[in-house]
Amino acid sequence: MGNFIQLPLLAMRGRVIFPDTTVSFDVGRMISLTAVKYATAHDSRIFVCAQKQSEKEEISESDIYTVGTVVKLRQITRLPGNNLRLSVEGLFRAKAKQVSKEDGAFIATVEEIKSVHGEKTLEQAYLRTSKEILKEITSGDSRFPKDAAVNLEKCTEPDVFINIASHYMQISVERKQQVLECARILERLEIMDKFLNDELEISRLERKISAAVRQNIDKNQKEYFLREQLKAIHTELGDDAEEQEELEKKIQDKHMSAEAEELEEKIKAKGMPEEVEEKALKELSRMSRMQSSSPDYNVLRLYIDWLLDLAWNEKTEDTEKLADAVKILNADHYGLEKIKERITEYLAVLKRTEGRTAPILCFVGPPGVGKTSIASSIARSLGRKFVRMSLGGVKDEAEIRGHRKTYIGAMPGRIITGIKKAGSINPVFLLDEIDKISSDMRGDPADALLEVLDPAQNSTFLDRYLEVPYDLSKVLFITTANTLETIPAPLLDRLEVIELGGYTTVEKKEIAKRYLVPKKQEANGLKSGEFSITDGAVLSIIENYTREAGVRNLERMIDSVCRKAAVRLADGKQQSVRVNEKNLQDILGAKKFEKDTLLGADEVGAATGLAWTSVGGTTLTIEVSAMHGKGDVMLTGKLGDVMKESARAAISYIRSNSASYGIESEVFEKTDIHIHVPEGATPKDGPSAGITMATAILSAFTRKPVRKSIAMTGEITLRGKVLPIGGLKEKALAAYRLGIRDVIIPADNKKDLEEVPEPVRGDINFIPVTDVDAVFKNAIIGL
Ligand code: ADP
Repeated sequence: MGNFIQLPLLAMRGRVIFPDTTVSFDVGRMISLTAVKYATAHDSRIFVCAQKQSEKEEISESDIYTVGTVVKLRQITRLPGNNLRLSVEGLFRAKAKQVSKEDGAFIATVEEIKSVHGEKTLEQAYLRTSKEILKEITSGDSRFPKDAAVNLEKCTEPDVFINIASHYMQISVERKQQVLECARILERLEIMDKFLNDELEISRLERKISAAVRQNIDKNQKEYFLREQLKAIHTELGDDAEEQEELEKKIQDKHMSAEAEELEEKIKAKGMPEEVEEKALKELSRMSRMQSSSPDYNVLRLYIDWLLDLAWNEKTEDTEKLADAVKILNADHYGLEKIKERITEYLAVLKRTEGRTAPILCFVGPPGVGKTSIASSIARSLGRKFVRMSLGGVKDEAEIRGHRKTYIGAMPGRIITGIKKAGSINPVFLLDEIDKISSDMRGDPADALLEVLDPAQNSTFLDRYLEVPYDLSKVLFITTANTLETIPAPLLDRLEVIELGGYTTVEKKEIAKRYLVPKKQEANGLKSGEFSITDGAVLSIIENYTREAGVRNLERMIDSVCRKAAVRLADGKQQSVRVNEKNLQDILGAKKFEKDTLLGADEVGAATGLAWTSVGGTTLTIEVSAMHGKGDVMLTGKLGDVMKESARAAISYIRSNSASYGIESEVFEKTDIHIHVPEGATPKDGPSAGITMATAILSAFTRKPVRKSIAMTGEITLRGKVLPIGGLKEKALAAYRLGIRDVIIPADNKKDLEEVPEPVRGDINFIPVTDVDAVFKNAIIGL
């Protein structure tokens, strides 16, 4: 008896995976997703088997080959439409002894198939021959990838050679399965030899044909010719394949013509643009001349399905009245008055121009402030379909534009995939995180994106897989980003930026009460009499369990509270759950944060600045120590180049005005200055730390403490002027959260105070200044 292991089973369509290879493919069927989930919860191993009929959607145990490969999941990428892209590494071959269905996934009890070695020298001889054939195959144009052949050349282990070569060969699933199932190495080598010889014949013929009639031979004719030739080869080789093939062909022709007819009808009824229909029919005619077991057949079938599934003229009608649209928009979100106003204008323009000149909106702000949800609300208010696609981490242009269908496992890019999901030609299409795309040597995704968003070009968007142009001009694209800084400039030029700042505690409380609690209550099946939460408890969640600019964690915490309430009710011990400040800790555990305050005494050499980061405002303590030395300046911690420059400007200013602060000028030559900015958030606006640095430095030299209850932001010039900064609203919110009530701001930023929400504006004493002297007077005690 061998060793049995239990693993989730994944059925593959039209593909066989071999050990010693790494492959990626997409899965979308529920049964496959469940198997993946099972695997990630255990040791990430999955037993992958080919399906006997690749087109079958619903499968039972008997539809799957019993021999397959145990693979390890290396990477899982979430794709739109609940699909996953898996990257797996083939570990070893195995046979299923038993397969059962548990919790929506197939679970197989498998045993490893150990290869049986024969005469070593004979094996090596076979291996050499195989390599020679392979070399000849790839010496000209061939279907076998050259890189793979070069690597195989170095391979000394027959099993590894067979696995990798079979992976790359374009042979039927049945043939691949035959190689996979065979345990004796010599026998595997023999089979391989035969397949390689066939491949060689094909490539020779191909070469001959292409040399003779390279330009004008019709592709269909060529394939037909090849197939005939192959048949002849088989007969010559003494295979009784002919008879079998005849039979197969008869059965298939019958089956095929029915399928082809059905597809043809569907294509004609779909109402595609003329060019597309022509293309679809052409590929159908190619397909119907192929054997249904050939990989090319499946490639074409899949392609035709894509053309059929895509919307070509299905369109939703926009909401008649603008007022109705605006009502929905308002109902979905709390506050955000300015933004709603701006969107209302946008919708009005959109209606008037029918989208021709509407700019592309870009919502910019920290996570959880409602960017995605506003976009989805725009779709709802217009009565359009909504699709969302994250561009985070997209490096490869092909992810936007697709892979040619000759590429193994090819698919259209994310744009076309999204459109298919939407099912209409005019959805609202949200491109999330456009600040997170990057590029590498496989082309620049930003360029492709530019084309997608350009009204002059996007009516004939060309996806590489689709091969026919697709009209994106009716799509309403909306984008989001956390920061504008990393968006490539040409892209940014196309966007109309709408900034969303963070929320105050009061706003968060209202959002929670009016939107998040009812939403989560419903999602967790809690009826209105069964659950309630007090204002105090909501406030405590905001202040003691979350620390964020938006409300994403708040939403998560409320969800967790509701879930736990549902569990308590399910026990039957309680009829209703009422959450208040006291019992909140039983539900969510100990508090994570105490209400922010800046306790502690006034300190020498430390000043509190306010910074603006891509995830909202935050405070930034700058520490300076002045030590006996020779006038060196040392900078440590989170300092960008811009901050270093500010530090130098601050030092120069203080040096040149030392007399007025009672510092002897020689002191500078005998003192080393050490400036430290503690790790933490990286500020987006480096120069705004200028006056904070100057304050901390002067305090260190004069040994006079900085008031702990004051925070500041502003750029400093060499002559001590204070220049305006960005992100005032976020910074004010951060100061407010921390209980700071005095904030020094550049006088030129006074106009931005309008944007600061009321409770904050009323409670904080903003001190506008024009020069750094005023900063020192306000912040340093006893100066
Ligand atoms: P983002 O896309 O900015 O990261 P989301 O749109 O995902 O944020 O918002 C997170 C959650 O908070 C969503 O459930 C959203 O509905 C909710 N939310 C955010 N802002 C508001 C608001 N002003 N009113 C009501 N709900 C909001």
